[in-house]
Amino acid sequence: MIRVTAVHDDSIAAELGLREGTQLLSVNGRELEDFLDWEFLTAEEAFLLHVRQPDGEEIEFDIERPLGEAIGVELEPARIRRCANRCDFCFVDGLPDGLRDVLYIRDDDYRLSFRYGNFATLTNLKPHDVQRIIEYRLSPLYVSVHATDPTVRRYLLRNPTAPDVLSQLGEFAEHGIEFHTQIVMSPGVNDGEVLRQTLGDLYRFGPAIIGCSVVPVGLTEYSKHHLVREPTAEECRAAIQLIDEQARVARAERGINWAFGADELYVRAGVELPQAEIYDGFDQVENGVGSVRWLQQRIDTVAGELRGWAGKRIAVVTGTAMGHLMPMVLEPLARTTGAEFELIPVVNTLFGSRVTTAGLLPGQAMQQALRDRRDLDLALLPGESVNDDGFFIDNMSLATLLQSIPIEVRLSKDFTDVLQVPVAA
Ligand code: SF4
Repeated sequence: MIRVTAVHDDSIAAELGLREGTQLLSVNGRELEDFLDWEFLTAEEAFLLHVRQPDGEEIEFDIERPLGEAIGVELEPARIRRCANRCDFCFVDGLPDGLRDVLYIRDDDYRLSFRYGNFATLTNLKPHDVQRIIEYRLSPLYVSVHATDPTVRRYLLRNPTAPDVLSQLGEFAEHGIEFHTQIVMSPGVNDGEVLRQTLGDLYRFGPAIIGCSVVPVGLTEYSKHHLVREPTAEECRAAIQLIDEQARVARAERGINWAFGADELYVRAGVELPQAEIYDGFDQVENGVGSVRWLQQRIDTVAGELRGWAGKRIAVVTGTAMGHLMPMVLEPLARTTGAEFELIPVVNTLFGSRVTTAGLLPGQAMQQALRDRRDLDLALLPGESVNDDGFFIDNMSLATLLQSIPIEVRLSKDFTDVLQVPVAA
């Protein structure tokens, strides 16, 4: 059963009399479990929909509609599938007490992998889930492999019953499912020869694996530092060498790069970032793979539309990780707009200085950095630092922050999204 949370005006649902609180029970006699069932089972032109209205009345609708016309309902969010692992580097385990409950959920959900590109380990799949992935052809999926050697993988995931990932991928691939994969590199465990083997195994698996990225493990002040550590510059350089070797083979044999390092890996290694051309469509940009080159491309693409900024002073607030990389983005942005950009890398006062990601910056730290900056015309904050309800990770609301800053503040994902509208004179 799925509960309706809202009905769109002038929609099929409104015409049928569905409303907030209506329970969607089944389609063509098949019980509805979540948004996947709803989307796939109602994809036909005609179907039978069984509902229970908030007053308890059960109705069956015989629906016929032009293909592509939405039914017009909003659904309650699916209950997140919990993770079956206990990785030493788990970010959730490293969170301090006192944050929003939802932040402590260790999710590992193939549905979110398909819908939003979240990485899943596939270690918590039940036969019913496997069947759904195949039936609904949920492809591509984003899979955290970490190591193809089952013993090493189980050790990393702290899950002695984790299934053999290559067999799992093989079963899905036979049904046409494709994968983006990642390896979170934990030094001394899955780097070196293990990394070489994992990259090789995944590449030899065939074209169902679209690509593989290597991301250096990141820890917070609260992580289990006695069990896991971050890689040194030398270890990152060794990983880049293995990635390059595998990418060379992929280019020669398949005409694609296939193996990628996260930007963070290059920063830690002290190695220049690869050029934009190697990223083959920027499939894992959300995973921090090719983010800088992607931003540079975006700026180039919309350069002609960024008008009205000449002479303005704009602050860009970001995490300390991007502090080294951001000048490579702000320099072309300044050239294109004529504005002067000031980079403000903010230390994460909530998780500690080792958490350098912009998306995890607490509102209070950004407020502190900007509260006396009347000399600026505009400040840009990382768009991913605020959730859908308008709150930063420390529970400060965006509205509170805006009230306390003396200049205009905008949330931005790639600069170009907000610089197409000039500030008021
Ligand atoms: S797979 Fe590991 S890192 Fe991811 S949520 Fe589970 S325990 Fe945490």
